[in-house]
Amino acid sequence: MTKDFKKHDIVIIGAGPVGLLLSVCLTRWGYDVRHIDNRPVPTATGRADGIQPRTLEILRNLGLKRKIMAYDPARVFEVAFWDPAPGGKIVRTGTWASCPSFLDARYPFTALLHQGLIERVMIDDLRMNGNNVQRPWTITRFETNNADPGYPVEVELKNLDSNVTDTVRTKYLFSGEGAKSFVREQLKVPIRHKDPISHVWGVMDGVVRTNFPDIKMKCTIHSDHGSIMVIPREDNMVRLYIQIASSTDPDFNPRKTATVEEVQAAAKHIFEPYYCDWDRVEWYSVYPIGQGIAEKYTLDHRVFMGGDVCHTHSPKAGQGMNTAFHDAINLAWKLHHVESGFASRSVLSTYETERKSVAETLLDFDNKYAALFSTRQPSSSEVSSASNSSTSHHTNTSAPEDENPFVAMFKANCEFTAGYGVAYGPNIYNHSAEHTYQHPLLLTNHPKLRTGRIMPNSNATRVADANFVHLENEIPCNGSFRLFIFAGLQSSAKKGEHKALSDFATALQAPTSFYSRFGWADEERDTHHDHNNPHTPLFSLALVVAARRPEIEVSNLPELFHDYAARVYADDVWQKAVPDAKAPSHAKTGFEGDEGGVVVVRPDGHVACAVRLVGKETVDALEGYFATFLDKTGRKARAREPKFGLGGGAQRVRAQL
Ligand SMILES: Cc1cc2nc3c(=O)[nH]c(=O)nc-3n(C[C@H](O)[C@H](O)[C@H](O)COP(=O)(O)OP(=O)(O)OC[C@H]3O[C@@H](n4cnc5c(N)ncnc54)[C@H](O)[C@@H]3O)c2cc1C
Repeated sequence: MTKDFKKHDIVIIGAGPVGLLLSVCLTRWGYDVRHIDNRPVPTATGRADGIQPRTLEILRNLGLKRKIMAYDPARVFEVAFWDPAPGGKIVRTGTWASCPSFLDARYPFTALLHQGLIERVMIDDLRMNGNNVQRPWTITRFETNNADPGYPVEVELKNLDSNVTDTVRTKYLFSGEGAKSFVREQLKVPIRHKDPISHVWGVMDGVVRTNFPDIKMKCTIHSDHGSIMVIPREDNMVRLYIQIASSTDPDFNPRKTATVEEVQAAAKHIFEPYYCDWDRVEWYSVYPIGQGIAEKYTLDHRVFMGGDVCHTHSPKAGQGMNTAFHDAINLAWKLHHVESGFASRSVLSTYETERKSVAETLLDFDNKYAALFSTRQPSSSEVSSASNSSTSHHTNTSAPEDENPFVAMFKANCEFTAGYGVAYGPNIYNHSAEHTYQHPLLLTNHPKLRTGRIMPNSNATRVADANFVHLENEIPCNGSFRLFIFAGLQSSAKKGEHKALSDFATALQAPTSFYSRFGWADEERDTHHDHNNPHTPLFSLALVVAARRPEIEVSNLPELFHDYAARVYADDVWQKAVPDAKAPSHAKTGFEGDEGGVVVVRPDGHVACAVRLVGKETVDALEGYFATFLDKTGRKARAREPKFGLGGGAQRVRAQL
């Protein structure tokens, strides 16, 4: 009977941030995605709203940032603190940068826009790529069985308007259902409550008329009449968070609620002596929150969960949607590698280990963050000391022993809330001294290229068109590993005067190399306009030459790079973090000496490993590293041509940047 069932590569339940981003990636990469949501219409107002600096980079890398910024979100550069003053008043006690300079962020601000508009950008992207979210549909049953080994998961879906059911078979089922998940309940995956404290928040979006001077800033206001958090929003709106109840209250009732009028009256009181009247309320919700984390993100590596299904916490630091995006990307590229035959199924286990450990850190952080604001307020001098203790190496979070604990906490918090604290531990992908494969050329414990973290950002000039570019963003998120090749100071751009680079390129092009083994199956494929994947869908190269742009002629470089003409860069842009460096991008990335190196960056932007560039042996080192998780024989990319995002479609992604 299974032959009658429709078959899909993946069925995604829920069109919130996690489901949508997973759907966008897999649809772009050519998969058959069946995506449903039980709500008749997408999010119209309210809910999450903060896009953190690192998430902006990810959205840029996906070609979605510009469309989101077109909605003109509010941008928070500074946070203001207000405390009680004599006479029942409030007074500003300090301000600090929301993303201090030591983080070296490309976009040092939080963008504030309601969740529905962010979702709309992704829904539009799906439509553009021939997919859609079906509404209002829900899931009524699923099981993993062997009735069809190619499509082992059977799922029953139901249209909530007509009650018509549709049973389908799929390779994967993903639950992005939010905090209340049918799939998680059916799997009997328990939620572990990290902290018994739970909170009830009143959240109100609207337009206010006020003489409070910081209404366009993010503010935490403590007053004798209660506390409030102010967040500026798009369209001249503001969001107010008011804690209505906490389990630390003597008469705590998790079902306690408050009307719009009650919250407005409380806010009015807190803002005194400033006035605060509401012209319009766009959205109001009472949002009960318990801190919880799912024990498992999958049981069989066929049914996966992510986003709020797996972790919930307070909205104070604006992390929910951002964490959901990270979950989605992390799973997307791993599913893609397995389903394309590149990697063994075992790599899928890293989704849970990597993302769950980040969620644990998030919940710990959420506790501390709440405590930081409830115990005592920092003095202005502490804040300014923390904000200005600029070091270019934001990756170094270990506090010197004599550092004020608040300052240390501030730094760690900023890094985490901005999204740069996402650090994946050593595993099969993230090379370390414990990795099963070792080679003398692999750079272990490199101070700047810490595996599991993102590659330091840097600027360069693209040789082909003399454009100034952000190097780390040049290769779009298209499911490929990125090999950033820093040719080194000893390497000249002149023909024949770059031996290590030439030997490396020759070895990479050998028919048996990892690079060639995963080449396109279709030899006739027209790759003329494919800047990112001219030879293989699994690897994308970018070459950085320590020379001025006019000195570089691509035809003088090894032949391999002729097909990557649009991915050759001159390292000739002065950068503040390394003012005296001859080759600033080399220095920022950690290649200060004569010798260059190759940085392997995962499709989600995190550093996998780094290798010294010496010639053929560099390819040997990479060969051994990739052999630990890639298909042993190597497989030509299957004929299925991805719609967008790989191969010919990559230009389209770039065109959106
Ligand atoms: C009322 C509310 C207010 C919030 N306010 C804030 C806030 O102020 N600040 C903040 O940072 N975060 C807030 N959040 C949390 C934030 O929205 C989430 O962290 C974020 O959206 C997580 O994304 P997600 O995709 O995991 O889940 P969600 O955004 O919750 O998306 C889940 C989707 O799945 C659908 N769905 C659920 N079950 C099924 C099913 N069985 N079948 C089909 N579809 C299903 C839902 O309708 C929904 O569209 C709020 C959440 C809620 C519910």
